[in-house]
Amino acid sequence: MNDESPPQADDPRVKLEEKILADYPRLGPDDTFKFGCHPGVSCFNRCCGDVNIFLSPYDVLRLKKRLGMKSYDLLDKYCLLPVQKDMKTPVVVLKMNDDEAKTCPFLGDSGCGVYADRPWPCRMYPLGLASQKDTPDGWQGDRFYFLLQEDVCKGFEEPQEWTVRQWFDNQGIDEYDTWGEAFKELTLHKFFETGGTLGPERMHMMFTACYDLDKFREFVFDSTLLERFEIDEDFVEEMRYSDEALLRFAFLWLRFSLFGEKTVKIRPEAAQAVKGKGTGK
Ligand code: SF4
Ligand code: SF4
Repeated sequence: MNDESPPQADDPRVKLEEKILADYPRLGPDDTFKFGCHPGVSCFNRCCGDVNIFLSPYDVLRLKKRLGMKSYDLLDKYCLLPVQKDMKTPVVVLKMNDDEAKTCPFLGDSGCGVYADRPWPCRMYPLGLASQKDTPDGWQGDRFYFLLQEDVCKGFEEPQEWTVRQWFDNQGIDEYDTWGEAFKELTLHKFFETGGTLGPERMHMMFTACYDLDKFREFVFDSTLLERFEIDEDFVEEMRYSDEALLRFAFLWLRFSLFGEKTVKIRPEAAQAVKGKGTGK
């Protein structure tokens, strides 16, 4: 893992965040913008380098399937796992190439080599997503979109006009957002708002279940985990081969084991055994 210091008040990331909230025009679903990105633009391929692309569990799932790789191999070859002192949940970032331009490893002469399965941030561009930090608890305020107008990007000179909603449809963002919302049930859980923290073991458990699905599958099927919960047999079979089913289970199981939510049902005999342990029987 790479060590990375948390953002300080004079950090450019903090300054950008403040600028976005203060200055950037906010876009709603029906607001319009002009943009086009195609091999004919003079800047084609220039933006896919030296960027921080944070990957969600669903981004990793799509990339591993696309590349036909095991999750642990993909994480090892293409990802960084930065560690910050105040980090509440695991973070995975796409690793840029070790060349001068720090190009994305998936960039080829004809553009993105994983286009149909490119990560959420690559789909969203040129739109950014922000939330008004208007409660003492953190980022719980209104979500809004804004235009990320990078100087290098000539896409804004193209004539095609979009509403935010049309851009989402065109880029297939809704599916990613649905998974993103399910992930937020973990990352924005009130456990964290009330000062809860995950120790290294639980942090690793969350990382494995969310991002390292092939490792998590081994854990699910090679341990006694399935004996402890009432899970539909067909769903168990689906988890053997479907990464989506396994990730759905991972989110539910983590909410149960990290935060005590009743998202999976414990078997009566397992509950009895736990009770017995608790009372010293
Ligand atoms: S994944 Fe594709 S679109 Fe995203 S930075 Fe890499 S090459 Fe560009
Ligand atoms: S800089 Fe803008 S227009 Fe150029 S390739 Fe990147 S997204 Fe497309």
